[in-house]
Formats: sequence, structure tokens, C-alpha cells
Amino acid sequence: MNQRGNDGDPVVSLVLPTYREEAGIDHALDEIVRVMEGVGESFEIVVVDDGSRDATFERVRLRAARDPRVRGLRFSRNFGKEAALSAGLAAARGSAVVTMDADLQHPPALLPAMIEAWHQGAKIVHAVKRSRGNDGPLVRLRARLFNGLMLRLGGIDLEEASDFKLLDRVVADVLVHRLPERKRFYRGLAAWVGYPTAEIPFDVAARPVGASRWSIVRLADLAITALVSFTSAPLRIVTVLGLLTLALSGLLIMDTLWSWLHGRAVSGFATIILTLLIIGSFIMISLGIIGEYISKIYEEVKHRPHYLVSDSVNFDGARSAAPDPYSRPILSPQQ
Ligand code: UDP
Ligand code: MG
Repeated sequence: MNQRGNDGDPVVSLVLPTYREEAGIDHALDEIVRVMEGVGESFEIVVVDDGSRDATFERVRLRAARDPRVRGLRFSRNFGKEAALSAGLAAARGSAVVTMDADLQHPPALLPAMIEAWHQGAKIVHAVKRSRGNDGPLVRLRARLFNGLMLRLGGIDLEEASDFKLLDRVVADVLVHRLPERKRFYRGLAAWVGYPTAEIPFDVAARPVGASRWSIVRLADLAITALVSFTSAPLRIVTVLGLLTLALSGLLIMDTLWSWLHGRAVSGFATIILTLLIIGSFIMISLGIIGEYISKIYEEVKHRPHYLVSDSVNFDGARSAAPDPYSRPILSPQQ
């Protein structure tokens, strides 16, 4: 099954993006280890500390000293969950790679079924949300709006999708090596690659400790990244706005000519103001949409790495994570 064929590589890698989880990380690792020991496949846990300033990485370091299956990476600062996922995928050595949250909202109890589905031949196993834990109505509405927009504009169905997934080595390699974009939207990319998939429903557990770290600004940023990287449909909205204005001006021209021919003074200060305002806002919106795409192009052409690793534990050996990812390219595959 192990397609990399390196002796000593585990069968399953579990990738945990982690940010300020000092209160819960030990318990989460306990749970995951307990479930995985029941599965009976060799495994490793790659904890990517997304630049937490609390004791998260110290906890991981202590754990890794006792248990060689636990490996830890630490970012030099907070680069975001998407970056942490990328780093974890790049570092994982298993024939199957599972990405899951470190707060136990993605229940480890699902792991045996996911691994079983993989053995049955699925290259991607999506864990899909059946219920949304203790999410409030506002969060639900937000998710609904976003998923609808993605489906309509991008043609990608993310309804109830989560970042809890198992990827076969083939798919993990595609994500790491073949998709060079910097700003990523893991959920969408995993749907985009295709391959035989399986779905397993789960109930999002309530967060045992701590609080969600996502601010509304971050979520909006993720939504824009998702839209802009998966579809150019918003650009078409600009064209539609242009056509609308054209139709509007046609009507106005006719009206003006009509009045003029009948010897009436061309009326309507109000009309002028209204037209100006409407056209003005159309232009601003269009510039904004185009601007989003340009900013994404700008970010991509800068070719900056999307994370920097400042520390690591249990990463010695061939695929090691040096503190400076530039010196050992394996952890910055985008270089
Ligand atoms: N996370 C991360 N970087 C961040 C924010 C969150 O790595 O900047 C991790 C976090 O530690 C957790 C997962 O991403 O393992 C999901 O985050 P959270 O539980 O805060 O979000 P939610 O469950 O509300 O989606
Ligand atoms: Mg969570």
C-alpha cells in the first residue's frame, strides 16, 4: 500500500493545524492515539503549530520526546490554517494523510471508518457535516450564503464540506507538488482534483475547550480567496453591470431627445444626480472586483513562501524540517 516505498514510513499520517490550543492539545493527542492504536496501522501525527504564542508547541515538544510518532512544526508567526495544512501535507510521510482540527471538533472516532473507506479504494474520503455542533444561527446563515455563492459562481459544491479529510498519497502529492498557488483554499482544492471519493457523515462536536479563532475578517478573506481562486464569474458581473448601464442610458437618451424635439427644456437635475450615482457605484464595484483579482495575481507573482518554519521536533532524518525552509526545500515545495 505504501506508494512512497520508504521503509519506516507510517501508513497513516494525521495532520493537525494548531493555533493556541495549549488547553486541549494533550487531550486531543491522547484521543487520536487511542483510536489509531485500535486501528492497528502504523501512524504519525504531524502537529503544525501556526505560530501560537501560548505553550502549544512546548506541549507538543514534551509529547514528541516521549512518543516518536508525534512530530511537530512551528511557524515563525501565525500564517493561518490553510498555510498550516499545506505545511502538514508537505511534511506527512504516510500512504494516507488525514487532515483534522486539533480541537476534537472532528471526532477521532471517525478515523477507522475513513481508513476503511480508503482500503476499499477511495482516494479521498470526505467527512461531511451532518449537524453543526453548537454553531449559532448567524454562523449557519453565513455558511449557507457562502456555499450557495460557491456553487452558483464556481460550480463547486461545498455544502457541508469540512477540512476533515483523508487523502491518498497520490492526492496529497498532487496538492503539494502540482498546485503551486500560494493562497489556498484546501476544501475547494480537494474537491477540484477529482479521483474516486467516499463520504462519511459526522456530527460536529462542540468545542471542548477554548474558542474558535476565526474572526469575521479572516472568514471574509477566506471566502474571497475561495471565490477568486475558483471562478472568474465575478468578472462577468462587471460586464453585466456595463450592459445594464448601457440599457439605462439608451432609455435616458430617448427621453431627452423626445423632450427636446417637443420644445421642452431638458429637465431633471434629479435625473442627472441619479444617473451619476448609479454609474458611479457600478464603476466602483467593478473596480473592486477587478482589484480583487489583481491583488491575487500580485500575491502569486511575488512568490513569497506562504509560511516559514522556525522550529521543529522529531523531524530529523531524510525529510527533515530545518528551521529555515529555504535550506531544505522539502517543507516549502512551492519554491
Ligand atoms: N487554526 C490554525 N490557525 C489559525 C486558526 C485556527 O491552525 O489561524 C486551527 C485551530 O487550532 C483548529 C482548526 O484550525 O485546529 C480550526 O480552528 P477553530 O476551531 O478555531 O475553527 P472552527 O472550528 O470554528 O472552524
Ligand atoms: Mg474548531
